[in-house]
Amino acid sequence: MTCPVCSESRSEFVEDADGRHIVECLTCGLEYCDPMPSQGELDELYRTYKPPEFDPFIRALNAYNWFNIFHEYGLKIQHKLLDFGCGDNDFVNYINLEGWEGYDPYVSAGCFWNYPGASYDWIVMLGVLEHLPDPVGTVKDLVNFLKPGAHVGFNVITGANSSSTKVRGRLPEHLTYWSESAVNSLCSGCGLRIIVVESLYVPRRASLMIANKNASLEAKKDAYGSGHAVVKVRTPDWLIIAEKI
Ligand SMILES: [Zn+2]
Repeated sequence: MTCPVCSESRSEFVEDADGRHIVECLTCGLEYCDPMPSQGELDELYRTYKPPEFDPFIRALNAYNWFNIFHEYGLKIQHKLLDFGCGDNDFVNYINLEGWEGYDPYVSAGCFWNYPGASYDWIVMLGVLEHLPDPVGTVKDLVNFLKPGAHVGFNVITGANSSSTKVRGRLPEHLTYWSESAVNSLCSGCGLRIIVVESLYVPRRASLMIANKNASLEAKKDAYGSGHAVVKVRTPDWLIIAEKI
């Protein structure tokens, strides 16, 4: 298959994960599952999908964390916001249930693409892009629902060349792992100007980080030394904020 971001056909084998091939695009550096799972396979997976479990306190903090991040780049409560791929709709529920919308193809009724005239100030996708077999197609469609100059905010999992933490191995859930060049290609292909690409930090219970065998020593030291119940943990993800050109 060709690269789902830049359409390059040349790729290099990276590794097998969960019985599937991961390859790296020789042009944009995106690592992706080849071949992609079929739509039927994904429908089957997500009909009964349970996202990673966190307690209500951390779920609420996570929502506030996202709000603080986007607020720094201009998001206001008064804005019209869509959370696409919202799952349990935590972000909208905890921050602005009356004013914002969440939509998830596997949870919500109806088809979002049929909504007439929606014109958003912000569209966010939180932990969504890596699940999409055609990220460019979905983001392009969403950009049509933004006002000019409006913002998108999302995260991607970084690839092996960009991150010290290797997180592959949740296939067919996590289908893409991103390089900076792949992010640039996605945004320019969708009519978006990048405002920021930076490491994403999320709140976690300090006690769980200390006890987590998979956490890095650095994260455990931070958790132990913080003296707080909650620590902000660096993820292998980038936060990306961009605006519609
Ligand atoms: Zn590519």
